Amino acid sequence: MEKRIHNFNAGPAALPMEVLEEVQKDLINYKGKGLSVLEMSHRSKEYDAILKEAEKNMKELLGIPDNYTVMFLQGGATLQFAAVALNLLPEGKSADYINTGVWATKAIEEAQKLGKTLKVIASSEDKEFTYIPKEFKISPDAAYLHITANNTIRGTEWQSFPETGKVDLVCDMSSDFCSRPVDVKKFALIYAGAQKNVGPAGATVVIIRNDLLERSPKNIPTMCNYKIMAKEPSLYNTPPCFTIYVIGLVLKWLKKIGGLSKMQEINVTKAKVLYNRLDKNDFYRGTVQKDSRSLMNIPFRLKTEELEAKFLEEAKALNMIGLKGHRSVGGIRASLYNAVPMDSVKALVAFMDDFEKKNS
Ligand code: PMP
Repeated sequence: MEKRIHNFNAGPAALPMEVLEEVQKDLINYKGKGLSVLEMSHRSKEYDAILKEAEKNMKELLGIPDNYTVMFLQGGATLQFAAVALNLLPEGKSADYINTGVWATKAIEEAQKLGKTLKVIASSEDKEFTYIPKEFKISPDAAYLHITANNTIRGTEWQSFPETGKVDLVCDMSSDFCSRPVDVKKFALIYAGAQKNVGPAGATVVIIRNDLLERSPKNIPTMCNYKIMAKEPSLYNTPPCFTIYVIGLVLKWLKKIGGLSKMQEINVTKAKVLYNRLDKNDFYRGTVQKDSRSLMNIPFRLKTEELEAKFLEEAKALNMIGLKGHRSVGGIRASLYNAVPMDSVKALVAFMDDFEKKNS
């Protein structure tokens, strides 16, 4: 096998080895068709089969009900910040947002830029976004409630999703999508950049309940218009074919390992190994309240920034990459997405133990 490093990147991130091998095998001559997926027409029979299979597997894995549409769009989760407000927040209405960190803040700012009215009904900014708010009151007439399932930078995650009654729940699931089962019918709309848990960069998954499609106004950019995008899902214009192909392979891999319940079990086991190490003593300090801890992104600090710099340098020498905390918060962050193997987590913890011995 090729030499592989321990990849703790926050996204784009590790992909399953099996998927990479299949991509490699089929790269030049896809299933004997004499061309690569990279070169295929998005209107070809071959590509159509790839897209349909990815959609089908996504529906199966997440148990997506028939009254929802799955789309692979472009523009990142960032474009969805605007698209959600453009489609679902008409003039004269207000939407609720819960602010749990940088990405939630960006979703709020993007809607505000469009002149939309919204209310931030809860925020964890008072404690540097180190917890998920538990107390909030949803406005009964809100157009929707927007939340961020997992906060990639701060490492907090909703352990369960709020009951919203009649109010539509919209969720940015970018950094924990397909890492655990979710009850899709609780959500009006889910969006997620693919590049953390389900594929390479270039596509954003949007899962939308079909009745919402009627809300899209005509005078918004076509690429943001859910109604137009859903008419022929993922084929309005040239889609990121290769990314969608790789997503399809990752979804097949997820099915093969036993689906999202099994994936969650594996993710819980991996995260426990690292959290147990953090909780052992105060050499390393987890930065998140225990009841809000993410299974995906695990940030921690050492006593000084100098020690953190040394930690990162030595980790790199041991082929562990992507451990530097986000530039806005510093410290260390290990991202343990679906495809990060337990071996990498064990290697990290062994290094942490060793580093502690040498530096305390
Ligand atoms: N939301 C969350 C939770 C994220 O982690 C990110 C990217 N790190 C984004 C949104 C933005 O995604 P994109 O880069 O795909 O626009």
